[in-house]
Amino acid sequence: MTFIKRLPKFEYHSPKSLLEALDLLAKYDGKARVFAGGTDLLVSMKKREVLPEHLINLKGLAELKGIHHEKEGMKIGASVTLDEIEHSKMIQDKFCALWDAVQVMASPQIRSLGTIGGNLCSAAPSADTAPPLIVLDASVEILSSQGKRKVLVEKFFKGPEESVLKPGEILTQIMIPHPLEKSTGAYFKLMRRAAMDLAQVGVAVCLSFDSEKRICRGAKIALGAVGSTPIRALKAEQILLNKEIDETVGKEAGTIAVQEANPRSSIRASKEYRREMIEVLTKRAVMAAYNRIN
Ligand SMILES: Cc1cc2nc3c(=O)[nH]c(=O)nc-3n(C[C@H](O)[C@H](O)[C@H](O)COP(=O)(O)OP(=O)(O)OC[C@H]3O[C@@H](n4cnc5c(N)ncnc54)[C@H](O)[C@@H]3O)c2cc1C
Repeated sequence: MTFIKRLPKFEYHSPKSLLEALDLLAKYDGKARVFAGGTDLLVSMKKREVLPEHLINLKGLAELKGIHHEKEGMKIGASVTLDEIEHSKMIQDKFCALWDAVQVMASPQIRSLGTIGGNLCSAAPSADTAPPLIVLDASVEILSSQGKRKVLVEKFFKGPEESVLKPGEILTQIMIPHPLEKSTGAYFKLMRRAAMDLAQVGVAVCLSFDSEKRICRGAKIALGAVGSTPIRALKAEQILLNKEIDETVGKEAGTIAVQEANPRSSIRASKEYRREMIEVLTKRAVMAAYNRIN
């Protein structure tokens, strides 16, 4: 049983710019952690899982804010809250799998604090924004005093609570390319209760169709909470390609998706139950995406 205690002592820093935040990270090398909403980090500190001596607040930094429509796609600042995404008409219209995901995350109170960047950087296998961002071909921009790098969200996760982020690096934004014509998506999440729970299984789908919206020409499927990181279900995607989508094809994709996952048993669900639910949710997500375009 994990005991939640009071927060341990730490020194608080509120930098005025990204540059200052990077300098602070370098100065307190290994002893500092950045945070945005604090909905993951402060809980981990109360459980004594992490004990940083310095906390650097990124929330006030203008460079990490805003949802911007740009020539190459949509840029979402790392400190954009889940609540801002939930209320973005642009995201609802163009990137519905991501919009679906934030609707079923936590509670309104947590969504008003928690950020998209924090959700990715915590690197939980169940992170709800990860599968939608993977099927949307999103990438993240990572900044350090050494410079910038860009990493596909699909390649961002390395293991439970482990990402490609190195000490001294800050995730600054998420870039999502413009969706293809006649494309759509959906995210389905299974939880033990209707809200305030992490995913037992999460499935995101992005499909694109021919000009008559009949034949599937592009398919991406990503699964969360089914292994040590969120994953693509590459073989299941192949099942959908160049076919008319119906319940039979959706079910077939679900059956194949199960074979690509490696779920484990935990307090949230047994691996057997997760396997059954991957099949069910994949079919539902495929059909929901198809019905959205037709
Ligand atoms: C009651 C409750 C319910 C929840 N429900 C869900 C849920 O349904 N689905 C779900 O996926 N999650 C859920 N969460 C987890 C959490 O709320 C989300 O992951 C949230 O998006 C985290 O964002 P944050 O800004 O609060 O992260 P923080 O706690 O501020 O940071 C999390 C981690 O990311 C790092 N970090 C933050 N921003 C950056 C950055 N820009 N660059 C580098 N590192 C950074 C921090 O150092 C820390 O390690 C829940 C949490 C609680 C307490």
